Amino acid sequence: MGQQATERSHGHYIGGEWTDGHGSETFESENPATGETLAKFRRGTTADVETALEAADSAFEEWRSLSYIDRAEYLWDIYHELRDRHDELGEIVTKECGKELSEGKADVTEAWHMVEWAAGNARHPHGDVVPSEVAGKDAYMRRKPRGVVGCITPWNFPVAIPFWHMAIALVEGNVVVWKPAEQTPWCGQIIAEMMADAGVPEGVFNMIQGFGDAGAAIVDDDRVDTVLFTGSAEVGHGIADAVGGEPGKLAACEMGGKNGIVITEEADLETAVHSAVVSSFKTTGQRCVSSERLIVHTDVYDEFKTRFVDLATDVVVGDPLEEGTFMGPAIEAAHVEKIREHNDLARQEGANVLVDRFELPDEEIPDGHEAGHWVGPFVYEIEYDSELRCLTEECFGPHVALIEYDGGIERALEIHNDTPYGLAGAIISEDYRQLNHFRDRAELGLAYANLPCIGAEVQLPFGGVKKSGNGYPSAREAIEAVTERTAWTMNNSTEIE
Ligand code: NAD
Repeated sequence: MGQQATERSHGHYIGGEWTDGHGSETFESENPATGETLAKFRRGTTADVETALEAADSAFEEWRSLSYIDRAEYLWDIYHELRDRHDELGEIVTKECGKELSEGKADVTEAWHMVEWAAGNARHPHGDVVPSEVAGKDAYMRRKPRGVVGCITPWNFPVAIPFWHMAIALVEGNVVVWKPAEQTPWCGQIIAEMMADAGVPEGVFNMIQGFGDAGAAIVDDDRVDTVLFTGSAEVGHGIADAVGGEPGKLAACEMGGKNGIVITEEADLETAVHSAVVSSFKTTGQRCVSSERLIVHTDVYDEFKTRFVDLATDVVVGDPLEEGTFMGPAIEAAHVEKIREHNDLARQEGANVLVDRFELPDEEIPDGHEAGHWVGPFVYEIEYDSELRCLTEECFGPHVALIEYDGGIERALEIHNDTPYGLAGAIISEDYRQLNHFRDRAELGLAYANLPCIGAEVQLPFGGVKKSGNGYPSAREAIEAVTERTAWTMNNSTEIE
């Protein structure tokens, strides 16, 4: 499909073939910066999911019988295609999900890193050889694929996250049925085209376009052994509950956060202000790791506030394809309303609003982009109170609270940890003891020191604790969710015990 959107509606990829599926409904992919329609897609039904699961189920035995290295060969082809088409795909990511161009391209870079890691891993040792208590006996831990893996992904990393899920699942010998987010079906289409071009055997990879009902049909089906989900806590906890009641089935869910940055009295303020702006406003605050709470020591509070407010006032909101744009639009009209509700809630709960660019003035909206979903930074200060909903509920927008604290790092951590989430957080301090204490006591899965609270390296686990995740992080640790372990003991002596 390449760079040009087309008139016809694009279908699903099932059993090695493109199909319109069983339903007649279609939906459109929209450019959130302009409101223009990019392409039309078929909306997947439960019957389409059934067909895809059947295709996957029948392909499993043959796929699992290949060597790791043979399976990885298919991924190396995709790796090269991701690299060759990096800039073109990055632009498509930007057009479909509105993040500025360098971030659109970074999404593709992260995808190739993941594919590289998963395919390279095929040549690494798998499982463990362990000492046995009995002389003459060998003991091993061996891994084997779980079977059919259902992947359900969000719109905000439409190329990277699908590969976090699928690259590892496939190399480990599983077959996949994937549903891309309904906001980013164009990216889904291109990934499926890459799988087809790489010659991935029929049924091993299947893609259904559609909405939450198609996702739910994947989750509910008995043929699915593992569900890999990344998205909102609301949907993820529903999936974890549904799967939790089914013996032998597993759901690995990566969800949202109410991430915070602690800026101590020992902070370098240049680093603090830069980190806070990047963490709060990049991707228009629509990253799972975006920061919505800045917990600032009283000794540096006033200076930090002045500098942060200046930058938040000047951040360039604009056409994500234009150089110089810091943040693009929100993903869709419904999400703009959700951000508005969070801003209103903060006001109702006593916020002192410092920057309110939510309703972007007409002169800041790029020409020809009037139908885009524009929002700007919203910054407020508020006295910490553990009852405040605005300090505990994820907004997923450019919405950030300044909270002043007095006391040591323990007090900062008390405030930091006081949310039901535990995904990501950062500390800015020149005191290594404070950094280490934060690393050990902050309740989260991803901790950054003297860095913005964003970024992922695929060779590290990626995931949260508490309401943010259920213990099977994406990327490296996803192996745990897509394999079963066999403890294998073998008697090498002639005597039977
Ligand atoms: P979402 O939960 O609305 O949708 C995610 C996916 O789930 C979509 O493909 C959607 O169609 C599908 N879905 C919706 N209802 C479903 C159901 N009942 N059963 C099965 N599937 C269903 O999330 P979103 O708006 O696409 O993404 C934003 C959220 O994702 C934010 O909360 C963000 O923090 C989170 N997120 C988390 C991570 C992470 O790694 N922790 C990464 C990116 C985004």
